[in-house]
Amino acid sequence: MYDISTYEEATTIQEALQYLKENPSSKVIAAGSDVLIKIREGKMAGASLVSIIKIEELKKIEKDKDGNIHIGPLVNFTQLEEDPIIREHLPYLGQGGGTMGGPQLRNIASIGGNICNGATSADSGSTLVCLNAQLTLTSLDLERVVPIGEFYTGPGRVDLKAGELLTDIVILRQDYEGYVGKYTKFAQRKSMDIATIGCAVMMKLQGRVIEDFRLAYGVAAPTPVRCPVAEAYAKGLTLTKENARAIGEKALEDVSPRDSWRGSKAYREQLIKVLAERAIWELANGGGEQDA
Ligand SMILES: Cc1cc2nc3c(=O)[nH]c(=O)nc-3n(C[C@H](O)[C@H](O)[C@H](O)COP(=O)(O)OP(=O)(O)OC[C@H]3O[C@@H](n4cnc5c(N)ncnc54)[C@H](O)[C@@H]3O)c2cc1C
Repeated sequence: MYDISTYEEATTIQEALQYLKENPSSKVIAAGSDVLIKIREGKMAGASLVSIIKIEELKKIEKDKDGNIHIGPLVNFTQLEEDPIIREHLPYLGQGGGTMGGPQLRNIASIGGNICNGATSADSGSTLVCLNAQLTLTSLDLERVVPIGEFYTGPGRVDLKAGELLTDIVILRQDYEGYVGKYTKFAQRKSMDIATIGCAVMMKLQGRVIEDFRLAYGVAAPTPVRCPVAEAYAKGLTLTKENARAIGEKALEDVSPRDSWRGSKAYREQLIKVLAERAIWELANGGGEQDA
């Protein structure tokens, strides 16, 4: 049995915002793959829920006239992996989604839920942080745009105010055009497992020289994090095996992994170095995924 106090089902954004305003303590439910587990475990027992799963306008992926890509928060991970716009411009984001849970989960789990649960292990988190995704947060009174790096405020915590809904995830053209990228999920099993470390790398290359470099991790800190020290170090370097290794080493200055039953701090530090090094080297040699 699920202990739920009230359940409202919205079919438009406006209707959902109205429900959220009328009952400020109510919680949004998308596909429910996190929410229902928390209710079952008693962590959200007695919750009032506002379901957004029937809001069609939140399920679209579109490119606007300026080349910015808009991803609706209800886009599920199968849709993300198969969508032609994502395949053409952000294949590494779709590829990351393809590492989530198993097929049944990917058919329902939403990218918005993956962001708003605030988990450092979220498989879309590190790539979206690398992409500097802009989140549109809408309430009846206000609409604001927050870069995803500022949206995460702590483990399991995000900057989402009462009455607000995530209504759009925007990847600006300048944040994807000309980049190659790769997401690597290291987990104990190939499916149905949470990442021990997730590593997202994006590079813009001028021949063999790194013109721009972005690196982010999941589970290397309380939230998904970018690596400013390693990124600054990498820019202008020539792609060699030694430099790829040195960039991975530098990333240790940006992260603060911890011990958990999935892996020790030392094990995670080793993964942080090696996953970046391997991804850089693979991308340098034409592997990985690129903006077409
Ligand atoms: C068996 C299993 C395996 C899993 N494996 C993985 C995995 O490999 N990798 C991974 O990253 N995750 C995994 N998860 C976690 C989960 O499936 C994902 O986080 C998923 O993306 C959540 O999406 P959802 O639509 O189910 O969110 P919900 O459970 O509906 O919501 C999650 C949170 O986001 C909030 N929310 C949702 N949408 C919005 C919105 N538009 N605006 C404001 N708030 C919103 C909700 O209030 C809630 O706090 C797994 C879960 C299960 C049950």
